[in-house]
Amino acid sequence: MSGKVFLVGAGPGSVDLLTLRAAKLIASADVLLYDALIGTGILELARPNARLINVGKRCGKKSLAQEDINALLVYWAHSGDTVVRLKGGDPGVFGRVAEEVAALRAANIEFEIVPGVTAACSAAAAAGISLTDRRVASQVAFATVHHSEENSAENFAAAAREGRTLVLYMPGHDYERIFRELRHAGLRGDTPCVVVTKIATTDQQVIWSDLRSLAEQSALPSPSILIVGEVARPSAAQSGDVVAGKQARALVSQLSEELQVPLM
Ligand code: SAH
Repeated sequence: MSGKVFLVGAGPGSVDLLTLRAAKLIASADVLLYDALIGTGILELARPNARLINVGKRCGKKSLAQEDINALLVYWAHSGDTVVRLKGGDPGVFGRVAEEVAALRAANIEFEIVPGVTAACSAAAAAGISLTDRRVASQVAFATVHHSEENSAENFAAAAREGRTLVLYMPGHDYERIFRELRHAGLRGDTPCVVVTKIATTDQQVIWSDLRSLAEQSALPSPSILIVGEVARPSAAQSGDVVAGKQARALVSQLSEELQVPLM
């Protein structure tokens, strides 16, 4: 009987941002095929005799072709193994999961997708902002500056709109082009943006800017995420109401009464 393939999101990199489900599956896999951005701490959860295969970019070598990855998934599943295909972040966000699912379906192999914390959400968390801060944004778009050749005509800037947060995956280093295209799409030069690099590692950096200043920025470390829009205004510049201690105490006392539980 064929084994099952789990297409698992590994989150942004650190072990404690894995889901419990992902951790359990990694620990039970016979074969693990993983991408370049998977942290070593995560791979340490695998069984000592599990087969670990790096299908991403390895020490100067190119990553395996998508068809070859599909073929390996099918091969090991047909051998009856439990296969975990581990991908950074969420497997369905710029993760080519659809191509792997198509290959598994064609081969009649059982599979399951396990979601993970995507880089956009981890970047926002690292910056202490909300992608859908309701005071300034009611929509969010995930786009990428680099995409497969078939979609090269598709421009990330088409997703830019006032009132919408734009999250750019794989932003590259041509910030001048990003500025130009977003200006062309109608965004103002002083639209705030924030770049978060190497999320969930000890080298993580949060760089606040605006589109015009970003254009002059020298290359920032990779991988990185670029968030564009009013939500990316540095929190120091955002206004918030100070909660008065007295008011909060009155509220807690009222809640205590309502719930009939001593809360103070
Ligand atoms: N499936 C992944 C995205 C894969 S595309 C997810 O859901 O997050 C790879 C891109 O994701 C990188 O070029 C970068 O833009 C972003 N990314 C992934 N991990 C990251 C990290 N730890 N820090 C910053 N950006 C990251």
